Amino acid sequence: MYPKKIKVKFGDQDEAYLVQLAEDTYCCPVCGSDEVDLPYANNGSASFEVCPECGVEYGFDDQIYSSDVEAGLTHEIKWKQLRSKWLAGKELTPALCDQLGKIGVCIKT
Ligand SMILES: [Zn+2]
Repeated sequence: MYPKKIKVKFGDQDEAYLVQLAEDTYCCPVCGSDEVDLPYANNGSASFEVCPECGVEYGFDDQIYSSDVEAGLTHEIKWKQLRSKWLAGKELTPALCDQLGKIGVCIKT
């Protein structure tokens, strides 16, 4: 049954969840777009796919280095930072709020 939450393990100290909508369809973890084939495999390997909506390239724009991990940075935090950047100056329409709601992001209007 979809949507499903899929756990991705990036390493010992970093795991995150992706929302899977159908067999080959996921939500972008940054913007909630439902036009992504697969951002990451379960083992954390990146697809290097580019989100058609926010333009984030998984494994590149959200890459985390080992020094970042030591500093406590995780993919969840990185995605949040990228999301804030993407949202800056955008009008929060009901459609946009719905889209973000799919990845569990709730923004007050
Ligand atoms: Zn996106």
